[in-house]
Amino acid sequence: MLIIGSHVSFNKKDGLLGSLEESLSYGANTFMFYTGAPQNTIRFPIDEEITNKAIEKMKENNINLDNIIVHAPYIVNLANNNEEDKYNFSINFLKQELDRCKKIGIKYMVLHPGSHVGLGVDVAIKNIINGLNIILEDSSTMILLETMAGKGTEVGRNFEELKKILDGVENKEKIGVCLDTCHLNDAGYDLSNFNNVLEKFNNIIGIDKIKCIHINDSKNILGSHKDRHENIGYGTIGFDNLLSVIYNEKLDNIPKILETPYIDDIPPYKEEIEMIKNKKFKDNLK
Ligand code: FE
Ligand code: FE
Ligand code: ZN
Repeated sequence: MLIIGSHVSFNKKDGLLGSLEESLSYGANTFMFYTGAPQNTIRFPIDEEITNKAIEKMKENNINLDNIIVHAPYIVNLANNNEEDKYNFSINFLKQELDRCKKIGIKYMVLHPGSHVGLGVDVAIKNIINGLNIILEDSSTMILLETMAGKGTEVGRNFEELKKILDGVENKEKIGVCLDTCHLNDAGYDLSNFNNVLEKFNNIIGIDKIKCIHINDSKNILGSHKDRHENIGYGTIGFDNLLSVIYNEKLDNIPKILETPYIDDIPPYKEEIEMIKNKKFKDNLK
């Protein structure tokens, strides 16, 4: 079954119910959200009543809570421990995020592995593993490490780096991977032959570790290490290549999440989801 949705907002007033209603308006059957602004630490308490109402409404709409994804904020960085207090802040903040996930019943939280900022990849990987082992000690939510574009000093820009991190994590049931098509392209994985990319992934990590896929086109060419998302079919990956990911039979039932840019301040997700469902590109979106 195709599980498709987009990034949606999550605000204090409407909580999970607001996120659900937004995604229903897009014709989605899943969604992803930040539990607060990704660039700051202000977090409001999870409202149990609203959450329960949302879960009730999900059932009515055949939406499985297990497919709903939280994205960790991007102010945290587990890769660099140059400043001890910043590193500890990242660990503690992610622990709090996982608590919030638990309160809602979220199964998966996507996390960027981090940037080494000059420390080098090997030290960074040790830092990430150490942090994850503390964070995942008593977590009921699984952390999905996202495949990165390799912008700046980002770690996780290839399957080998992700594999090293996964190998060091003790709680294996609580660690997985989130593919991002824009990041894969920018990292140098050619999605015009996605089966080949998937085979590589399977040989190094194992397909069973993929629990979420971010579906984005890219503004930049293969291997550019840039990370700028483009609307579906308007970028260098192209509509058909994205469909080959979305409809790959080995990735059936895995939540696919759009993180494409707004067009003239308007979310494009209803139209993009429609194109994906119809398997037909519309060139008048922008
Ligand atoms: Fe991300
Ligand atoms: Fe992403
Ligand atoms: Zn990105």
